[in-house]
Amino acid sequence: MKPRVRFAPVEAVSEYVAEVSGQALACRDQGHTWRVYDIDGDSDSGFTRYYRCACKALLEQGLDADGLIVSRRIKYPKGYQMPAGTGRLSREGRGTIRLASAQSDLRAIMMRRQKRAS
Ligand SMILES: [Zn+2]
Repeated sequence: MKPRVRFAPVEAVSEYVAEVSGQALACRDQGHTWRVYDIDGDSDSGFTRYYRCACKALLEQGLDADGLIVSRRIKYPKGYQMPAGTGRLSREGRGTIRLASAQSDLRAIMMRRQKRAS
């Protein structure tokens, strides 16, 4: 029997968005912006590329000699992920994250407007 997906309660997601950094919230909402910072290998054996995001998440991507992705591992910074066992994000949970991210965007834009006006 296929195990049922366990979703994070919306209250747990609300607690999470109150604690997490603004950049992590933006990444959860819109996805990471990866920038390569190191590379190993060569075109005969393939490459391992190392990426970093502004939220401090690290991505290690393995490419074979044909350029196909053979491995992909992400290491998240402390506090980025919800506590272990909380469950997956439901549609409502994603909405909670999106709203918190939009409120953060609004605050940042209001501050920029105030700076420009003064
Ligand atoms: Zn990120």
